[in-house]
Amino acid sequence: MPKTAIYPGTFDPITRGHEDIIIRATKLFDRVIVAVAANPKKQPLFALQERLDLAKAVLESCPNVEVLGFDDLLTNFAKAQDAQVILRGLRAVSDFESELQMACMNRHLAPQLETFFLAPSEQYHFLSSSLVREVASYDGDMSEFVDPLVAKALKLKKV
Ligand code: ADP
Repeated sequence: MPKTAIYPGTFDPITRGHEDIIIRATKLFDRVIVAVAANPKKQPLFALQERLDLAKAVLESCPNVEVLGFDDLLTNFAKAQDAQVILRGLRAVSDFESELQMACMNRHLAPQLETFFLAPSEQYHFLSSSLVREVASYDGDMSEFVDPLVAKALKLKKV
């Protein structure tokens, strides 16, 4: 049976760290769904449609990757997509507690779904969308951290 993994996140915006996890996942699963959460409570810098468009453009050359938006309970969305696996990236110890809590809650809600954690390449361990937004707001060099399309979109966001 083909295996589908769903990689949920806010992707505000998609970074090289996210890309690293997605590329690793494409080697392990038949289908990888990048699930961009609407997440209005986080008051994202980029609107859902902008985050979707950026992720789609950045991941255009990855053949078994789909980018979809969602505004539902993750376990419901994963079931609707016939996913067997929820994928999350683990950077530092600081990610661990909340990620474990979320994995346990998701298992409680949907026991048939397994959460997999992947670690990115070391150069991305410190990278987060929030840091990228912060550095970009002061015109810092973004080229190592995000795709050129994302760097351009960040520049345009700055008033
Ligand atoms: P969320 O709001 O769900 O945390 P993010 O877009 O910040 O959404 O992150 C989505 C997933 O990607 C999370 O599992 C997060 O730990 C992971 N992630 C974020 N940045 C990186 C990175 N640099 N390397 C590896 N994983 C990352």
